[in-house]
Amino acid sequence: MNQILAVVLMCVLPLSSRAQVVDNFKTHTEYLASDELRGRGTGSKEIRLAAEYIAGQFKSIGLKPIADQSYFQQFPIPGQSEMEANVIGIIPAASATNRSLVFTAHYDGYGVREIEGQEDIIYNGARDNAIGVAALIEIARIFKTEKAAAQNLVFMATAAEESGKHGSRYYIEHPVYPLQEITICLNIDGFNVSGSREDYYVMPRQGVDFVDEIETIAASMGWFHVSPDKVDHMNRSFDTVLFLAKGIPAFTLWTGDRLKGGKTAPPIDFGRIHTPDDEVNKNWNWEGVEDHIALYKAIADYFLNHPDNISVTDLTLFKE
Ligand SMILES: [Zn+2]
Repeated sequence: MNQILAVVLMCVLPLSSRAQVVDNFKTHTEYLASDELRGRGTGSKEIRLAAEYIAGQFKSIGLKPIADQSYFQQFPIPGQSEMEANVIGIIPAASATNRSLVFTAHYDGYGVREIEGQEDIIYNGARDNAIGVAALIEIARIFKTEKAAAQNLVFMATAAEESGKHGSRYYIEHPVYPLQEITICLNIDGFNVSGSREDYYVMPRQGVDFVDEIETIAASMGWFHVSPDKVDHMNRSFDTVLFLAKGIPAFTLWTGDRLKGGKTAPPIDFGRIHTPDDEVNKNWNWEGVEDHIALYKAIADYFLNHPDNISVTDLTLFKE
């Protein structure tokens, strides 16, 4: 517990940088979800713009490219002539090791779909998953301001998730650091833009043994774990399921329906996901962004210092 508290105290941001994190987060989200990027469809020229943007952010933060000054891990997709690319930046460990922590957030979306009678044809993918990529970039920035960790940190914006998790599948076959030495994959798919929350879900809850650790860390920061198993099935739709199927611990963490202070907020409108209405909304409340980032960060810090005592306990749950 003391160790966990120490980790949590380390990750509290100074007030001045809090506002900056949220500003940056908004900027990334608004660009990635803009009509100009036309929904970041796999195979489109606009998804290249998104990839260039993310790589530019990684470069300006000072992340290490994976090869030859490049942040792109290119790979083919069945039935498509253009290559897709995961965008990967690294913060190497303080001393040489093969162990890594991998952050993932898919940056592709549904693109443009002409549907008869439908005026808006751009599936902007703001919640799914421009905000996740924005969080990925800002978590990387926070880590880069600290001294190097005991493990390598991999920040990966995955491509072609919506069309079959092609990017994460390619990474699993071609990891930067050996697959079996990945401590845990922290996936971000959706993020809190609904005000300051005090509850959260971890997915998956079944078939893994790291949920207790996450609960302890989160509780020390004032979060309540809501654990209806009804969301556990959501795990199958995330990039994480491919890591889990290989025995690599992996999770996605969403905030829940309780505003800070215990008031219940209207549930998140998932009806807009995968529609042209998944746009940046003027009713979004960005106040909870930094807390959600801090929670991911604290969990990462914990597993950086405790790499060996977590595992997947039931592989059969994650078979495709
Ligand atoms: Zn998604």
